[in-house]
Amino acid sequence: MEYTDTRDGSVRTDLKTAVLSGMNPATGGLYIPVRIPRLDDALLNKCYGPSFRDVAFETAKLYCADEIPDSDLQEIIADCYPFNAPVVPVDPVTYILELFHGPTCAFKDFGARFMARLMAYFNREEKKPLHILVATSGDTGSAVGSAFSGVEGINVTILYPKGKISYLQEKQLSTFTGNVRSLAVEGNFDDCQRLVKTAFTDTALRKKFRLSSANSINIARLLPQSFYYVYAALSVKCRSLHDNKIENPSIIAIVPSGNFGNLTSGLIAQKMGAPITGFVAATNVNKTVPDWLASGRYEPRESKSTLSNAMDVGAPSNHERITAMYTRDELKQFVASYWTDDEGTLEGIASCHERTGYIIDPHGAVGWQAWYNIRKGAMLKLMSGFPNSSENPGLTANIPFWAQSILDNKAVGIVLETAHPAKFGETVKRATGREPAIPDRLEKILNLPDRSVSIKNDYAEFSKWLQKNLSGY
Ligand SMILES: *Cc1c(COP(=O)(O)O)cnc(C)c1O
Repeated sequence: MEYTDTRDGSVRTDLKTAVLSGMNPATGGLYIPVRIPRLDDALLNKCYGPSFRDVAFETAKLYCADEIPDSDLQEIIADCYPFNAPVVPVDPVTYILELFHGPTCAFKDFGARFMARLMAYFNREEKKPLHILVATSGDTGSAVGSAFSGVEGINVTILYPKGKISYLQEKQLSTFTGNVRSLAVEGNFDDCQRLVKTAFTDTALRKKFRLSSANSINIARLLPQSFYYVYAALSVKCRSLHDNKIENPSIIAIVPSGNFGNLTSGLIAQKMGAPITGFVAATNVNKTVPDWLASGRYEPRESKSTLSNAMDVGAPSNHERITAMYTRDELKQFVASYWTDDEGTLEGIASCHERTGYIIDPHGAVGWQAWYNIRKGAMLKLMSGFPNSSENPGLTANIPFWAQSILDNKAVGIVLETAHPAKFGETVKRATGREPAIPDRLEKILNLPDRSVSIKNDYAEFSKWLQKNLSGY
C-alpha cells in the first residue's frame, strides 16, 4: 500500500515512513492512502456477526500486508485489542457502539494502541531509543501513555496543562511509571503544544535524540478506528431484521466529533465497503464543520469550553483529510450535521436515560441528541421546507439522500459512545441524579501516587529537563 499527502498528491511513501514521521515535514501535509482498498466480499457477506478481532485483522491487512507478515500482524492485533466494541441495542432503531472498554475508558485507546505497536514494530531494529513528545488536553495523553507503557525502545513524555483538566484525567496522566513520564505545565493546552513544537524544531536537541510525535494526525491512529465501524455496520446489518423487523435498513453512524479523526475513519470504512449508508457529524458549540457544511465558508476559530471537553476543537485538523477525500457537495449527499450546546448535552443524557435506561456520557450524548431529534421531527421539518437557522442548536440545513428513510422508519442509527460515563460522573449526575459506577480500572488509578513533575511555561526549563532526563535511556 502506498501513501500520499493531503498537500502534494505526487508524494509516494510507505506505511513505515508515514507512521514514524507522523506528518510530511517537507509539505506540512497529512498522510493518506493513495487509494482506499476494498474489503473482501467474503467478509462483507458473512451473515453471522464476525468477531471484532477478525474484522480488525482483515481490515488492517489491506494496509499492512507488504510491510508486515500476517503472523506478526495477527499478534499485533491480539495484543492491541484484549477488549471488544459491543454493539448495544437500546431502542428499536438505535444501537450504541461502546468504544470505552479499553484501559483508559475512551475510544482513543483503539487508535493509540495500534499506533504504539506499529511504531515499536517499525522501530525494532533501531539502536537508539525513540522519544515521543505529546501535548494533551485530556483523553489523548492517557491513551497514548497507556498504549506505550512498557513498549521497548520507545519513551514517552506527556505535557498537560496543570489544573486545567478533570481530576480523573489528571490522575490518569500523572500516575504512569517506567518509560512514560508526565510534565504538568503551568499554562494552557496551547502552551503545552508550543513547547512540544519548539522542541521539534530545536536542532541541537534533535541531533542528540530521536524525537517523534503521537498526536491524532498520525495515520496509524486513524486506520484502526475504521475497524470498529466495519465491525458495527456488519453486526447491525446481520441482526437488524431480527432486532427491528426492518429489511435492509439505512445504517446511519452518528459521530460525536471534535478534531474529526473519528468521522474520517468512518468515511474510510465506508469507502472500503462497510455497509454504512450515511453519517451524522455531531458537535458541541465548536461547530466549525457544521457551519462549513451549511455556508461553504471554512472558518477555524478559537475553541470554547463545554461539558464534552474532548470535542472542544475550533480548528479540526482532519478537515484537511476529509476534503482530500470528498468535495463539500459530495459530503452533503450523505453526511448530515448537527450541533448542540451544554443545555442540549444535559438534555441528551437525561432523555437517553429516561427513554432507554442507558447511561451515556456527555460526548455520546451529543450524538444521541442529534439522532433523537432527527427522528423526532427535525428531519421532517427540514424536508417540509423549514430549515433550522445555523445560529440555533439543531440540524444543519442540508437534506442527505437517506432523509426519506428516517420518515419511513427504515433507518437504524449507530451512536458512537466515545467515553465511559464515569469519566464525567459529575455531569452525568447533574443530568440524571445518579453517579455512574466507576469501573475497576479507573478506580485503581485513584489510589496511585502522583508522579508528574511541574514545570513553568518556559522552553529553556523544558529543554533542560529533556536534556537531563532523556539521556538516561
Ligand atoms: C477525542 C474525543 C472525541 C472527538 O473525537 P475526534 O476524532 O477528535 O473528532 C469525542 N469524544 C471523546 C470522549 C474523545 O476523547
